[in-house]
Amino acid sequence: MSVNAAQNLEDVQAAIAKACKIARRAPVDVTLIAISKTHPADEIMPLLDAGQRVFGENRVQEAQGKWPSLREDFDGVELHLVGQLQSNKAEDALALFDCIHSLDRPSLVKAIGKAQDKLGQRIPCFVQVNIGEEEQKGGCAIGDVPDLIAKARDADIPLAGLMCVPPFDIEPAPFFALLAKMADDNGLEGRSMGMSSDYPTAIMLGATHVRVGTALFGARDG
Ligand SMILES: *Cc1c(COP(=O)(O)O)cnc(C)c1O
Repeated sequence: MSVNAAQNLEDVQAAIAKACKIARRAPVDVTLIAISKTHPADEIMPLLDAGQRVFGENRVQEAQGKWPSLREDFDGVELHLVGQLQSNKAEDALALFDCIHSLDRPSLVKAIGKAQDKLGQRIPCFVQVNIGEEEQKGGCAIGDVPDLIAKARDADIPLAGLMCVPPFDIEPAPFFALLAKMADDNGLEGRSMGMSSDYPTAIMLGATHVRVGTALFGARDG
């Protein structure tokens, strides 16, 4: 499928500006993360050419294959990991990414703590919350979030905020509101919430980072 990524980027930026206006927020307070998972470098380049610099991937290995060479051609790229992270990939993730959105369990706190000591490098992490309390979903159980935050702080992991992926196919607004409240209660500024189908709603409810794939790149194969 052929898509005009640069035009899509303009449309998404306009929708973000509109949502910010309605919510009386400043557009600079909302970071658009272009989720480029499954899309090859030649589909990502038009967005880089159009000035987009913040991207997200959900698999360490796929990102390792695509981004080192793109970074040689484009300055200022900021890469976010938005997918589940295995503990044995923590070091690879720290070496490649600028931010992790999927800190969701004590074993991963340990692995990231160890990796950052070894590499002498820290990157901001979002604690992912299983906001809909779904059996099969990634993310920390709501009741365990304060403890996980405390463990991350103990391990000297810089915490950016909270992240969620609400249940599919039902109104996401209550889940966004809950995540925002939890972030407030825990003294965290960042709220990584909102995807292609619901990012304007997420912005109204305080999203600081929206993760948009399909609306920029078109549908993913398979
Ligand atoms: C794929 C993905 C997105 C982007 O989803 P779209 O619906 O394509 O915008 C956002 N967040 C996470 C965690 C994802 O895995």
